[in-house]
Amino acid sequence: MESNPRLKVGEGKISGYIAIFLSILSLLGILCFKFPEVLTTADLRAVYTTELVEKLLLFAILASFVFSLVSFLLSRNKKYALIALVLCTFAIVLGGFEVQGRSVEKVNWSLGLDWLVLDLFLMALIFVPIELVFPKNDKQSKFHPEWRTDLIYFAISHLFIQLFGVMTKRPAEAFFGWMNLDGLSQWVQNLPFVLELFLALFLTDIFQYWAHRIFHSHNYLWRFHAVHHSTQHMDWLAGSRTHFIDIFFTRSMSFIPLYIMGFSTLTFNVYVVFIAIHAVLIHANTRIKFGFLKYLITTPQYHHWHHCEDPKYYGKNFAVVFPFIDYIFGTYHLPGDVWPEGTGLRESSFPKGFIKQLFYPFRVNPFKSEINPNEKSDR
Ligand SMILES: [Zn+2]
Ligand SMILES: [Zn+2]
Repeated sequence: MESNPRLKVGEGKISGYIAIFLSILSLLGILCFKFPEVLTTADLRAVYTTELVEKLLLFAILASFVFSLVSFLLSRNKKYALIALVLCTFAIVLGGFEVQGRSVEKVNWSLGLDWLVLDLFLMALIFVPIELVFPKNDKQSKFHPEWRTDLIYFAISHLFIQLFGVMTKRPAEAFFGWMNLDGLSQWVQNLPFVLELFLALFLTDIFQYWAHRIFHSHNYLWRFHAVHHSTQHMDWLAGSRTHFIDIFFTRSMSFIPLYIMGFSTLTFNVYVVFIAIHAVLIHANTRIKFGFLKYLITTPQYHHWHHCEDPKYYGKNFAVVFPFIDYIFGTYHLPGDVWPEGTGLRESSFPKGFIKQLFYPFRVNPFKSEINPNEKSDR
């Protein structure tokens, strides 16, 4: 399947897609208002106010109308505008203009549809314009052959946020729960904020580094992590493509230092927001210049080298926040302004689609030496 041509400003397609995107988010948002017990997360409800999300919903429906009008005027193909108009009308019929938040009874398990809608909206708002104006690969369309696969990964990891959260905390609690860490926590929380945040980012990145490196060097584990590396089209959604075993293991490892050190709520929250945005940024299809910052913090160029398809460069740039960690452990690679020629795996037979990739690592005999490209690197 050939990639779709890249969208250009002025064709009426971008406005059409924005209109459809906003109207779908509005519909999902209305579902959240109607069934908050099962579709929204208690943790996130504590962060936003109902007034704010009511306004956001109103804004999204109105903006969708405006964009569908723009698309109608600009595009010879009226179908985008019409689809968005139908979806918008549907949103209004479902009560989109008069939804009201209500008090919610706490249930044990719920989906994170509110998290999915809000994060998808926010990330698209930040990264779609960046990729449009400053693309790294200006031939690559957002609608490349595997964009739906990446969107499914994004949706699943957000919908099951509660499950992922609980699983992430388990190993740290099991191994370190018996220790009395209050003294350490007090010391950490008395540090200046910047130092505390640096410590949180640095320690989690060290743990992440080794978890990540084990996934590369261990034959069977590589099958799981290969899913993340299978994307040939790096963009803001590509980083979501991660097998759930990979997520559990790497996140629980990274959570250990957070648990032991007991950082303040402020530091923890800033850490979570930073990591969420930064992880999307380093996969994004953008050549924005970061100047000297690229030596201090990982950038798209840095992480694209980690995804390089040429076996010569496998086993480089495992750190996700601080390049100096790779420098210390001898896996640093950042050649000036040069970017890798291509990203992905050289195995053309690698399964495509969420379901196939979900079962793929389990189908392989763990004792059979499989093609692990990392073994051929000179590490
Ligand atoms: Zn990797
Ligand atoms: Zn990656």
